[in-house]
Amino acid sequence: MTTAIHTELDADGILLLTIDVPGQSMNVITPEVQADLAAAIERLKTDDAVKGAVLTSGKASGFMAGADLKGMGALFGGGAALPEGKSKMAALFDGVFGLNKLLRDLETCGKPVAAAVNGLALGGGLEFVLACHYRVVADNPKITLGLPEIMVGLFPGAGGTQRLPRLMGIQPALMYLLQGKNMSPQEALGFGVVQEVAPAADIVARAKAWVKANPNGGVQPWDTKNFKFPGGPATALNPNFAQIFVGGTAMTHVNAGDNMNAPRAILSAVYEGCQVPMDLAIRIESKYFAKVVADPQAGNMIRSLFVSKQAAEKGARRPKDVPPAPTKKVAMLGAGLMGAGIAMVSAQAGIEVVLLDTTMEAAEKGKAYTADRLAKKKMPADKAQAILDRIKPTTDYADLAGCDLVIEAVFETREIKARVTQATEAVLGPNVIFGSNTSTLPITGLAEAWSKPENFIGIHFFSPVEKMPLVEIIVGKKTGPAAIAKALDYVAQIRKTPIVVNDSRGFYTSRCFGTYVQEGLALLGEGTTPALIENVGKQMGMPVGPLAVNDEVGLDLSYKVAQQTKADLGDDYKGGPGEAVIEKMHELGRQGRKNAKGFYVYPEGGGKKFLWPDLVQTVAGGLAASQPSAADVKERLLYRQLVECARCFAEGVLETPQDGDLGAIFGWGFAPFTGGPFSHMDTVGIANVVATLDRLAQQHGARFAPPQLLRDMAARGDSFYAQAARRAA
Ligand code: NAD
Repeated sequence: MTTAIHTELDADGILLLTIDVPGQSMNVITPEVQADLAAAIERLKTDDAVKGAVLTSGKASGFMAGADLKGMGALFGGGAALPEGKSKMAALFDGVFGLNKLLRDLETCGKPVAAAVNGLALGGGLEFVLACHYRVVADNPKITLGLPEIMVGLFPGAGGTQRLPRLMGIQPALMYLLQGKNMSPQEALGFGVVQEVAPAADIVARAKAWVKANPNGGVQPWDTKNFKFPGGPATALNPNFAQIFVGGTAMTHVNAGDNMNAPRAILSAVYEGCQVPMDLAIRIESKYFAKVVADPQAGNMIRSLFVSKQAAEKGARRPKDVPPAPTKKVAMLGAGLMGAGIAMVSAQAGIEVVLLDTTMEAAEKGKAYTADRLAKKKMPADKAQAILDRIKPTTDYADLAGCDLVIEAVFETREIKARVTQATEAVLGPNVIFGSNTSTLPITGLAEAWSKPENFIGIHFFSPVEKMPLVEIIVGKKTGPAAIAKALDYVAQIRKTPIVVNDSRGFYTSRCFGTYVQEGLALLGEGTTPALIENVGKQMGMPVGPLAVNDEVGLDLSYKVAQQTKADLGDDYKGGPGEAVIEKMHELGRQGRKNAKGFYVYPEGGGKKFLWPDLVQTVAGGLAASQPSAADVKERLLYRQLVECARCFAEGVLETPQDGDLGAIFGWGFAPFTGGPFSHMDTVGIANVVATLDRLAQQHGARFAPPQLLRDMAARGDSFYAQAARRAA
């Protein structure tokens, strides 16, 4: 076995334990780390020459990032192989208790152990630190210490839910545990989570000095008789203690709609664990951890939010045989809302930008967008200036000379797009890759304006560009591998998450997201209470209700898109049941937030918006006598999206479930706790999905009818991810 923790005994008998996991740029908890730590603990216990230890990192990148989530994959969803004679939960408990017990062994080894933390310590990394008796952190405000497990549906399972409350008090600890928030070294010092903040060069010496000066320091405060919880005793008899959990439970309900297992498990582990001694407390923690791990939710979240996301960012969908094609200078056509944002993120990534619009005023305004955003961020003036210097506003196509990538974001009109495409080709020639940021126009058609359509691709951003993490890359019928590689390399440069989809009306994200809004409109058109529609939308994990989001996008835009689609499709056009609602709102001139009246009313002076009181009467002739239940509304809002996602897969718009899940979560905010629509369908079971869709299609129409692909999968007992794994093998 390779060495993951190097040991070095000094003249004072202090054992320096340097974690340096081979083959990893950042330390993570591997089986080797655990084995080496176990050996070191044994030595501390048995070797009289060893007086104590200092735990530090051999990586400049930081102390330790936590568990190796990829390596833990087999545990999730209860997928671990069961040892004979063990129940599933008992086997899972053993699987997760090992590390917890190991860290308990460290803090009860009888000799003082200090941590010297040179950089970030997150998740399991911080749990290693908390199990030491004394903690010194390098004085660098950029260092983050935290337990962010909840962000991927997990919770700290190596003592974090027990040691943090005992160090900082239950209420502040819950804030960090439930929000996954990080703290700086100074904040950690203030909370008593660490004892010393020192210059980076001195941390090991300081830690050693403490060990040397405290030969009896090998006892944690919670293992002493007089231990008192900061902020008051942890007993159900203490009214403050009880109240914290009443509040915590309510907050969790509000924030996560009671959809997530991990927050509830954290609250339970802290509540129960803090009332008992540490040896029992960590068993309680591991019990809840095993429960969370046994549910598919954590595995789904980790796969999408961590594994698939990282793989996409590292080029999972990039054609392998195309050499790296980083962008040095981008031609940004159109300096409006989108063009300005794309110019900003490009310049921030060190890319030169030529920002072209029809007037100098418009081009300058586009550049001013970056200046404004950087000023709001309070970026140092010289740094901001260097970014701004990379953006050259212009109206002259000759200035595009030397650009090695074009991104077009002019008006959403075929003729205008064709004109600027041809004018650009006249300067750059057809070998440069041309990306269009169109939101609705099929890429294959737009590519006709570029004489080498293999070099034409869709690069679809989301608004506001600087905040939204996803970029949808759209492959037209003739798009070639060089264009895909160039687009993906560019997305990597600007540090966003790409998905790759094939051309179709609305591509993937707009098409599927639209169904959420349309189903909301359909419900409204039937006379459903608007507040019910909106609240259920949020309760199921969507960021906002369908009516609110339509107000944000603009009801006039929905009307225009419907008219354009009608014109394009002719007899093939099938209007949805919500269309009459949009037509009525258009007739009344209600455009949404932009003119302060849509489904909501936006009071002058920025008061809180509220649902337009006349809404149901106006668009549906009044409330329906019989209202659907919340469960019915949820089913319709959810399954209308699921069936459209499945259709995208069946039609080849999507090639992988990973693209589908990432696009849904990061593109339109599909409930992250599901891991995305494809993970969700797999978890529910495809046969069950088909049965629900068949029932909904009977009740509400063909828009719910499952595609043949789902029926075939159900018949085979197949799932999207099993299929993807077979294809990858
Ligand atoms: P916008 O109206 O804010 O900006 C368009 C810009 O293009 C304007 O500054 C306009 O002066 C300029 N322009 C028009 N004709 C031009 C020409 N011939 N040459 C150079 N510049 C010209 O629009 P936007 O919201 O930035 O959208 C731009 C594109 O991005 C559209 O295709 C849109 O569908 C797409 N898109 C928009 C969003 C969004 O949320 N707004 C999201 C994704 C994609």
